[in-house]
Amino acid sequence: MLTGKRAFISGSTSGIGKAIAGSLAKAGAEVVINGFGDQAEIEAQLETLNAISKASYAAADMSKATEIEAIFEDLGQIDILINNAGIQHVAPIEDFPAESWDAIIAINLSSAFHCTKAAMPAMKKAGWGRVINIASAHSLVASPFKSAYVAAKHGIAGLTKSVALEVAELGITVNAISPGYVKTPLVEAQIPDTARIRGITEAEVIRDVMLAPQPTKEFVATEDIGAMAVFLCSHAAKAITGANLSIDGGWVAK
Ligand code: NAD
Repeated sequence: MLTGKRAFISGSTSGIGKAIAGSLAKAGAEVVINGFGDQAEIEAQLETLNAISKASYAAADMSKATEIEAIFEDLGQIDILINNAGIQHVAPIEDFPAESWDAIIAINLSSAFHCTKAAMPAMKKAGWGRVINIASAHSLVASPFKSAYVAAKHGIAGLTKSVALEVAELGITVNAISPGYVKTPLVEAQIPDTARIRGITEAEVIRDVMLAPQPTKEFVATEDIGAMAVFLCSHAAKAITGANLSIDGGWVAK
């Protein structure tokens, strides 16, 4: 279905991005992965992807505009852009480190701006493109102690709508996918901090903080987000643009 299309997925050495890279490769797209991690693990991921489709790795720190610009210059045509890289920090506002605020805004929000800006000229020239921003239920609703993350995710929801309107007549769609809790390293890392801040056990964090807002009481599966991304890249999804699609077990329906 996506044969002949080239996808760049920021932050795809782990979690949701890794699953999306796998799903796009299975659908026939050439994939360019990005993100931090153990070199041997990245090589193994590339080997798996190359067995399905064509795959390569582009090193760029998504908090640095100059590195993003440089890789897009090297990559040339990108047809599918998945803005996925993200980090989290959980703390009360008065204790929230300014450097954590800056890093979250840079990686979770500004990188999507820089990547979209760099990818857009080639998409416009081709008359076809797909931009998918991995937002969050936190692009629609808030939780305490996540000021930077919620601000960045609400920001990416706005960025999605604005760019979608700009390119609506050019064969390019721009959408956000907003997952609820997905059990990835990003979520696993915040369990101990949340337990400490709220004075509860880690098991209670999972039951009473993470899964409490999700009516299904289950984490969202990374492969289901991959399947959603593949659908948004399909011809059948050509009229879906500027949307913020929830995949959150019913969280924001409440
Ligand atoms: P993860 O920690 O498993 O993966 C994050 C990826 O981003 C990794 O590949 C990491 O190397 C990369 N990354 C981090 N900083 C980077 C940087 N400066 N430059 C380049 N790459 C960088 O996290 P995840 O849960 O898969 O999260 C992926 C996205 O999904 C994030 O935007 C996150 O906010 C969003 N999201 C996650 C959940 C969840 O419950 N896990 C829910 C909603 C939205």
